[in-house]
Amino acid sequence: MKLLQAKGIKRNYGSLQVLKGIDLEVGKGEVVAIVGPSGAGKSTFLQILGTLDKPDSGEVWIEGVNALGLRDKELARFRNEKIGFIFQFHNLLAEFTALENVCMPGYIQGGKKEKDIVSRGKELLDLLGLRERANHLPSQLSGGEQQRVAVARALLNSPAIILADEPSGNLDSQNALDLHKLFFKLRDDFGHTFVIVTHNEELAEMADRRLLMQDGSMSE
Ligand code: ADP
Ligand code: MG
Repeated sequence: MKLLQAKGIKRNYGSLQVLKGIDLEVGKGEVVAIVGPSGAGKSTFLQILGTLDKPDSGEVWIEGVNALGLRDKELARFRNEKIGFIFQFHNLLAEFTALENVCMPGYIQGGKKEKDIVSRGKELLDLLGLRERANHLPSQLSGGEQQRVAVARALLNSPAIILADEPSGNLDSQNALDLHKLFFKLRDDFGHTFVIVTHNEELAEMADRRLLMQDGSMSE
């Protein structure tokens, strides 16, 4: 069983056919890069993989569960537990500290002890070299640090898969390289699985697979 399977994903915006029937299978521990021109539908596809948007037709299976077959409430819980998101702009909450931001998916999930959430959050901040930044607000962090906090947040619930949409698009080249190395370290050390939309050719080259999205279709 593949960790993630997308089958025949179609998505239209009015008369615009953005995704024309896309299939994708991702195995555990794979790092898959999706490249392609602006407007090709990469973000649309990632949102659908992440169950944040529904396709017009097609299926998304994650760890053997037909995600789009779940009721809204179940789906929200499933998504928060199984999928970690990293965006171009870190989307950290400005009024919360780094640690509070990292812990957010744990609080949202419910049924977890505060103590366990916080210790997991601290462990992740340590792992990502942010121990000294735990009580800083996002505005008190550098761009690279903000993005690492976003990575820690994505990992909080130990998701099955991490989806990243141009995660280094807003970073300088050194911070981008550091972030990319971090993704591979997380894969090598913990078996994390990534699907990453990127314009960064270096990252696409490092990935296990480089997929090209173009004209509503995707090719290896
Ligand atoms: P990419 O991430 O590859 O740049 P997107 O998935 O953001 O591409 O967009 C694909 C196409 O779909 C673009 O032509 C974009 O204008 C269009 N599009 C994206 N979101 C919407 C929306 N909510 N409503 C209408 N059109 C959209
Ligand atoms: Mg995009």
